[in-house]
Amino acid sequence: MFSARKCSGVFRAITLHHFRSHSVSRAFPNLTFVPACLPPDPVEVEELQRFVSNSKRLFVMTGAGISTESGIPDYRSEGVGLYARTDRRPVQHAEFIRSASARQRYWARNFVGWPQFSSHQPNKAHLVLRDWEKLGKLHWLVTQNVDALHTKAGSQRMTELHGCTHRVFCLACGDRILRSELQEHFETLNPTWKAEAFGVAPDGDVFLTDEQVHNFQVPACRKCGGILKPDVTFFGDTVSQEKVRFVHRRLAESDSMLVAGSSMQVYSGYRFALAAREKKLPIAVLNIGPTRLDHFASLKLNSRCGELLPLIVCT
Ligand SMILES: [Zn+2]
Repeated sequence: MFSARKCSGVFRAITLHHFRSHSVSRAFPNLTFVPACLPPDPVEVEELQRFVSNSKRLFVMTGAGISTESGIPDYRSEGVGLYARTDRRPVQHAEFIRSASARQRYWARNFVGWPQFSSHQPNKAHLVLRDWEKLGKLHWLVTQNVDALHTKAGSQRMTELHGCTHRVFCLACGDRILRSELQEHFETLNPTWKAEAFGVAPDGDVFLTDEQVHNFQVPACRKCGGILKPDVTFFGDTVSQEKVRFVHRRLAESDSMLVAGSSMQVYSGYRFALAAREKKLPIAVLNIGPTRLDHFASLKLNSRCGELLPLIVCT
């Protein structure tokens, strides 16, 4: 979701003011879900410095790898990602739409995971990108993450490509509410419901048995009784053409592309890298492990985003 400009059919219920009531954590980062890697190599720092210095209008795309240093696991990282650690897979769009029990399972897990998931704070990488925006270096930021950490950091020239878990809407009438409000409805409807969370997934999901889920009550839309869905593009769904066109326009205005913390396995983000290649823009990739761009990126760096990006001097 982009925040600096209005666009019909797209809303922005989460304001910066809403998040600024929380302080940005300065605590030692939780690196449980960050793949092992060496500290940034001085040559890498120099190369990325040159790349950033040469850019006047940088287009940045981020993925789960930028949020692992805030304690949120990603899906695909070797050894520590959700796919490597568990046999759990995220909810599919069609299943959520057609199955009341799938929605009950989704919301029960999401209810349990929400207090922890929503409390995560931006790390140094998010803050650096926010600063680059303020300095006029960053032209547009696109994130594939649904965790609101860029918004919490204060980024404004931004599109949340896959939406954001902090917003919920009605599939029937389009009414929109904050996810935090929905938590109160859940608590009212389920006063004695107890469940134990076994771990939080990248989308705020947790692990519960079918038995635990069975008695969980899911609220309907307060206005029309319709089905509530997080404002998130689930697996199997597609990003709106309006949003895709908007991001292509921002990319067309940019002079280089930086990918941070993404293997770019999902096409909805990868297509913008393909477009950047077509325009012959320089592309830098900062990610621990291989990515889909490695064979055509101008620069590939294997470092933690939160370690390397703060070393770059931006003027
Ligand atoms: Zn409704």
